[in-house]
Amino acid sequence: MADADRAPEIVIDMQQVVTRFGSHVVHKGINLQVRRAEIFAVIGGSGSGKSTLLREMILLHTPNEGSVQVLGTTLADITAAAALALRQRFGVLFQHGGLFGSLTVLENIGLPLREHRKLSDAQIDSIAKTKLAAVQLHADVANQYPSELSGGMLKRAALARALVLDPELLFLDEPTAGLDPQSAAGIDALVRELCEKFGLTIVMITHDLDTLWQVVDRVAVLADGTVQGVGSMAALSKMEQPGIQAFFEGPRSRAAQTQTHAVAASAHKEPSSKPK
Ligand code: ADP
Ligand code: MG
Repeated sequence: MADADRAPEIVIDMQQVVTRFGSHVVHKGINLQVRRAEIFAVIGGSGSGKSTLLREMILLHTPNEGSVQVLGTTLADITAAAALALRQRFGVLFQHGGLFGSLTVLENIGLPLREHRKLSDAQIDSIAKTKLAAVQLHADVANQYPSELSGGMLKRAALARALVLDPELLFLDEPTAGLDPQSAAGIDALVRELCEKFGLTIVMITHDLDTLWQVVDRVAVLADGTVQGVGSMAALSKMEQPGIQAFFEGPRSRAAQTQTHAVAASAHKEPSSKPK
């Protein structure tokens, strides 16, 4: 079929996912698909099951019913060897960074290489330095400790570690939470650039309206245990379900929408390195 030939490649496919904790039903039948090389966000109120959904994608939680496929692998019947291989094809940036305080930034970034690749110390340092540059941290940061870094720099260092095995897929839990607006904007720009430069597929949880309007391609709105709608922010803003409209009300939302147009206009003037 001609249509199927042109259909985007699906890298994450969740079908009829049901998740319960005791008698508490968190997901009542989640369907969602993430396409290769897009930036996909999951939004929803506190306790709506966003983090659990992410954990189900990264092999940290198994749903009670339904199927989850990641990069073509069905997770329910995955072998230990296949799980180990799959884990090396994605990177995860957890909300609270997770860098080891007793290791330098460069040692932190190199850690997954030490664990999963047979490389010399010099080779590991050399790859780690390229990732430090990729997240736009100065070479001097390599020998600093996490406690010496600002919030934005910590996120960048954690991002470098998540990228060190050259993953196809990157998961971000609230990448701009707790940052000042300028650092948050820097992380937003970096995420967009990484997606374009490396053809990464990115799945993130975020509440940040600037990120949602300026960086994300498609958004899934989670409420009442199901996906209420999926689409660009512009498309969602026109949907009428109350569960979706709730996100587009209020002055902060309107300010973020207005700002988008200014940023989108100036972005067109910048040269893009992306062969997309
Ligand atoms: P969100 O990230 O959208 O705030 P979560 O996915 O963290 O929501 O949690 C969804 C619901 O599932 C919450 O009510 C939470 O208390 C519950 N929950 C999450 N993980 C567990 C767990 N390991 N045991 C019991 N309940 C859990
Ligand atoms: Mg959460």
